[in-house]
Amino acid sequence: MAESMKGLKRTCRCGEVTKANVGEKVTLMGWVQKNRNKGGLIFVDLRDRSGIMQIIFENGKCSDEIFAKAGKLRSEFVIAVTGTVQLRSGAVNENLATGALEVVAEDLRILSESETPPFPIEENSKTREEVRLKYRSLDLRRPDLQRNLILRSKVAMLTRQFLDKEGFLEIETPMLTKSTPEGARDYLVPSRIHPGSFYALPQSPQLFKQLLMCSGYDRYMQIARCFRDEDLRADRQPEFTQIDMELAFVDVEDVIDVNERLLAYLFHELLGVEVSLPIQRMTWQEAMDRFGSDKPDLRFGMELKDVSDVVRDSEFAVFRNALEAGGSVRGINAKGQGGMPRKKIDKLVEFAKGYGAKGLAYIAVQEDGTCKSSFAKFMTEDQMKQLVQAMDGEPGDLLLFAADKTKMVWNVLGALRLELAEQMDLIDKNEYRFVWITEFPLLEWSEEENRYTAMHHPFTMPMDEDIPLLDTDPGAVRAKAYDIVLNGSEIGGGSVRIHQNDIQEKMFEMLGFTKEQAHSQFGFLLEAFRYGVPPHAGLAYGLDRLVMEMAKIDNIRDVIAFPKVKDASCLMTEAPSPVDPAQLEELGLKIETAAEPEA
Ligand code: ASP
Repeated sequence: MAESMKGLKRTCRCGEVTKANVGEKVTLMGWVQKNRNKGGLIFVDLRDRSGIMQIIFENGKCSDEIFAKAGKLRSEFVIAVTGTVQLRSGAVNENLATGALEVVAEDLRILSESETPPFPIEENSKTREEVRLKYRSLDLRRPDLQRNLILRSKVAMLTRQFLDKEGFLEIETPMLTKSTPEGARDYLVPSRIHPGSFYALPQSPQLFKQLLMCSGYDRYMQIARCFRDEDLRADRQPEFTQIDMELAFVDVEDVIDVNERLLAYLFHELLGVEVSLPIQRMTWQEAMDRFGSDKPDLRFGMELKDVSDVVRDSEFAVFRNALEAGGSVRGINAKGQGGMPRKKIDKLVEFAKGYGAKGLAYIAVQEDGTCKSSFAKFMTEDQMKQLVQAMDGEPGDLLLFAADKTKMVWNVLGALRLELAEQMDLIDKNEYRFVWITEFPLLEWSEEENRYTAMHHPFTMPMDEDIPLLDTDPGAVRAKAYDIVLNGSEIGGGSVRIHQNDIQEKMFEMLGFTKEQAHSQFGFLLEAFRYGVPPHAGLAYGLDRLVMEMAKIDNIRDVIAFPKVKDASCLMTEAPSPVDPAQLEELGLKIETAAEPEA
């Protein structure tokens, strides 16, 4: 039977007991990790979020009644133990912070019993993730998940403290807001009071934080939940958290400065890692040319090389066609991989095809300097030599080439570079390598929609010197936009915003909005701009991503307490779920497609 807390007070957590407490009486509360009965001695490992403490019940040191009660303990029972701290009489457990200590129990209360849990509560669980997510409250007891969530809490807390000192104000923005279809798909919430009308859950607080700048708040921050109804990939969540900020009277440098110091502070305080400032910067163009990615992992080299000019005169149709269509031919050099078996090369070709490549051309430079190649017969000996030279190819190297539209070539080689780095074990997993990516293109041409879309969002300011190009060559306009990338993951991004009505109107026009559409969707922003708007800029981090990178974790669900799975459902609550017809009626909604029958 469950006992009460009456008259009991926890003195500290299990992991907080130190050698300084030897001889003292403590009251600990937590879950039974395991228990062993050795005749006159019962050992219990007691677990709470801070760690594990060994408890000993010894016949004679506690009453018969308590000893008998201790004999009934099972895994995951919730108990309170009062006893005296002593140095371990048995072997010291080097793996535990409290491994040299134990508590000799005098009193025990069973606060709650537990059925046998569906899986053991242990680090690095082998249990299938679906099972763990279904029983998430149990899963969250595991020390590795607890460490992640504790780190997450600290990141949020220290960020608030740091930004508070820098003069930021934390201001909440609405969760029920207006649908603005530019960007990702909105999550919609039907209105009961206005049947047929919908709120949208915010994709980010973007417009509101800009309005706050118009209102003179000057420096805003918020740890904000955002919602995007996108087709999910393994590393995405339909709802995620941003550390969001906006600053008035600033330019790119100011935003970068405060954020570099914030990152250095977080990494120093929480990981003991010194981020050397200033963080390296690279333009988007350079990142794409050298790494085929706008979030380059700089922990290793293997840079892309543009060899279009070298192969321009070759007879190889794959190269020629790509170049004639305005594309390019680029390659990477997998050092020392020249002996890669054909089968493995074929796998790389398949991998590249998965990213949209038509194929991959390769040269394996032999130890005697001759070349084995998929396309040697279309090249003169001299062309081949020049190509190998352009790639810094040495005996034993494997050179891989993609030829296509440049965007495709970047994409394919960028992915291949990462894949090869994994295979070749080139990445120092202990390193934290930051880089700012700057000068992103303002616009991106969408083949599907046959129009320009905003690369960042429609409120991003063009670079001053590129403003004239808006009329003549919009695709070439660079933006005052920046991303902060850590170990090949985009952990944050932002931009200087347009604060001039005429440029903002022009931007909407470029994006294919009619004046009416722009005003019906963003009228409140344009309206605010009429009454004195300071120049402003901002940035948002993906908190989930940041914590993942800090904790060196691959699975985004491991840094979120109650995550959704790939199909956007929650395995624990079973959301989303059908609702009562009366609720639908109240909202004036009718469901056309029949809900799937219950399995
Ligand atoms: N609101 C932007 C985003 O969600 C970030 C920013 O520009 O501040 O990506």
